[in-house]
Amino acid sequence: PESSTLQWAKAPCRFCGTGCGVNVAVKDGRVVATHGDELCEVNRGINCVKGYFLSKIMYGKDRLTKPLLRKKNGIYDKHGDFVEVSWDEAFDLMAEKCKQVLKDKGPTAIGMFGSGQWTIWEGYAGNKLMKAGFRSNNIDPNARHCMASAVMGFMRTFGADEPMGCYNDIEAADAFVLWGSNMAEMHPILWTRVTDRRLSNPKVKVAVLSTFQHRSFDLADIPIVFTPQTDLIILNYIANTIISSGRVNQDFVGKHVRFMLGNTDIGYGLRPDNPLELKAKNAKDPGGGQPMTYEQFAEFVKPYTLEYASKHANVDEAWLKQLAELYADPNIKVTSFWTMGFNQHTRGVWANNMVYNIHLLTGKIATPGNSPFSLTGQPSACGTAREVGTFSHRLPADLVVTNPKHREEAEHIWKLPAGTIIGEVGYHAVQQNRMLKDGKLNWYWVQCNNNMQAAANLDEETYPGYRNPDCFVIVSDAYPTVTCEAADLVLPAAMWVEKEGAYGNAERRTQFWHQMVQAPDDARSDLWQLVEFSKRFKIEDVWPEELIAKMPEVRGKTLYDVLYRNGNVDKFPLEQCDPAYANNEAKAFGFYIQKGLFEEYAAFGRGHGHDLAPFDMYHKAHGLRWPVVNGKETLWRYKEGSDPYVKPGTDWDFYGNPDGKAVIWALPYEPPAESPDAEYDLWLSTGRVLEHWHSGSMTMRVPELYKSFPSAVCFMHPDDAQKRGLRRGDEVRIVSRRGEMLSRVETRGRDRVPVGLVFVPWFDAAQLINKATLDATDPISKQTDYKKCAVKVLKV
Ligand code: SF4
Repeated sequence: PESSTLQWAKAPCRFCGTGCGVNVAVKDGRVVATHGDELCEVNRGINCVKGYFLSKIMYGKDRLTKPLLRKKNGIYDKHGDFVEVSWDEAFDLMAEKCKQVLKDKGPTAIGMFGSGQWTIWEGYAGNKLMKAGFRSNNIDPNARHCMASAVMGFMRTFGADEPMGCYNDIEAADAFVLWGSNMAEMHPILWTRVTDRRLSNPKVKVAVLSTFQHRSFDLADIPIVFTPQTDLIILNYIANTIISSGRVNQDFVGKHVRFMLGNTDIGYGLRPDNPLELKAKNAKDPGGGQPMTYEQFAEFVKPYTLEYASKHANVDEAWLKQLAELYADPNIKVTSFWTMGFNQHTRGVWANNMVYNIHLLTGKIATPGNSPFSLTGQPSACGTAREVGTFSHRLPADLVVTNPKHREEAEHIWKLPAGTIIGEVGYHAVQQNRMLKDGKLNWYWVQCNNNMQAAANLDEETYPGYRNPDCFVIVSDAYPTVTCEAADLVLPAAMWVEKEGAYGNAERRTQFWHQMVQAPDDARSDLWQLVEFSKRFKIEDVWPEELIAKMPEVRGKTLYDVLYRNGNVDKFPLEQCDPAYANNEAKAFGFYIQKGLFEEYAAFGRGHGHDLAPFDMYHKAHGLRWPVVNGKETLWRYKEGSDPYVKPGTDWDFYGNPDGKAVIWALPYEPPAESPDAEYDLWLSTGRVLEHWHSGSMTMRVPELYKSFPSAVCFMHPDDAQKRGLRRGDEVRIVSRRGEMLSRVETRGRDRVPVGLVFVPWFDAAQLINKATLDATDPISKQTDYKKCAVKVLKV
């Protein structure tokens, strides 16, 4: 097409938490091209292969365009076939079912499963609807599967969530250590920056640690494949090396750190009757501990010697020594990156705490190039799941539902009576599946995720819950996924630039975009669905009389009136929307709803270290990293001169904790919930591939991406294949104690697994590897360990 006929506008990429900027071209109401945004500092004009094909994600042939309800003989039936219905019919039935469950069982029997792919205002609107409207804290994002351990790691060490550093660390670091992160495939654009830094500076070193070799190993100076779960041993070995070689930064530690001995014996988060579950001594307070001294910490890590670490991790001593030296040498600036290898771990919070330990012992933190950096998988895992607080225990800006003062603050901002928000933590993601199966959660709305592919132990826990006749399950999505197939009602969703949106990436960068095209037919944004649905409830339907009596003016009003027409959300008129762009939601509700929701939400963080810029600034900027104070973003938190919240003269100030100190946690090695044995003789690890994003519901519909990796395979060591009489390409059953799937053996290719381990990607809806995985979780973060369980591989 002639370039003059194209209209270009900026947006963040729809996929990963890297947060690359793209320019989007629209012609005749359709997105026809994208390219990397040169003005976005994250990617500086380039995209990975997924970003390159962004223009095609909305145009799969099977887009959902009408609400679909299971019906038999013209009426709703759990075992009926999907039939097109109107939005009115869909919402009427949803509301009727919801009211019945609220009447019969109360708010603990309804729930919502959301997403780190929700826009910021979608997550905020959903959080408010559930926690204030329905007074149920049973809302959780699929980010629980992704970075809940990182969240709890931050909270336990620093008292505040999210990284202190930013991507600028990459150009300043002398060494990079990847802990359970395949950045080359999962964060490829950041990997290009790491590669550039490494190849243009011969002294820069890269260490890569994983349980198998992947593409990131191609750049590794220090390649380490360790026995699953022994990353905990290696981390304590490094701490021991720093201490025993006399290279602790005593000045930093003396001023800015205190020590805690963490509770151990905390279980595996399985159902209590699961034979793999431990009788945990500290199940009630898994995140707790007691103060200890530096000397006691030094004694604690002393047994983690080089010999001990090498033997248990099965890693050459020479590699371990080189790795420890990167951290111990005071002249080397180290940036540590991690993702699911740490977070999807039954001791994932510990692993996060332990990497902070080694940065804190050396004072290598919060200065350019010295950065412990947890990367995120979803585009708005930080912006929507963490910052908005869509977890079952959280409220916006690090507030939690269990703290009465925090609830009071939220009720004040929301202009709601005291006591509206319930003080008990709701069901987290894994618990939601169990409660659906047990019939204790009876009305459940899933938005913007594909849990029937993503959850662990699908056959035993997740699928039976969704199909339980006592549960009514609604799924909103843009495409018909396996989760939609398990639902009672499917709602067609608008996606990406079919709506105005905002995401927050891994480096605290908030990015906005405008609506550029219309969604097909009756597809509507999750925001519209949530807010429009709220009109179906009178306040008397959802609140008890004693709560209404505290604010009689709400009597007779709808949830929509009370939550979204409250003087905050509806105070920006429609005319403030940029006339160059459509804004379906603003037109539908008659005011600039996105701006109202964002500004109300921003009130939680301003003045509390989470300051967001004024709404309009984001439509002009190419992302801003919070806290944004007086129009200036913050690159390194906790460091004087960079972070406006640091008290003058303190140098570093970990102000998330009342004493301004970060916590070093003494934590031991503990074995995983399940390890290979005589019958199930292989480790199973699952993960992603470069070409597909998460469950593949978008990327599998892009022909180029589909063709480049059409089906999942079972990566296996040639010796393991030979031992079982298998050849490359043979069909196999991958069987665990819980379930099985069919796949094909791959003994070559990009992933080079060691003897005794198989790796299977989970993007392929035709091969559900999560039928085999174990739903063991970290008892502190409630995040599932998808990286370790025991399977056998059998020839078909
Ligand atoms: Fe999109 Fe992530 Fe690729 Fe960047 S690295 S283009 S954000 S998928």
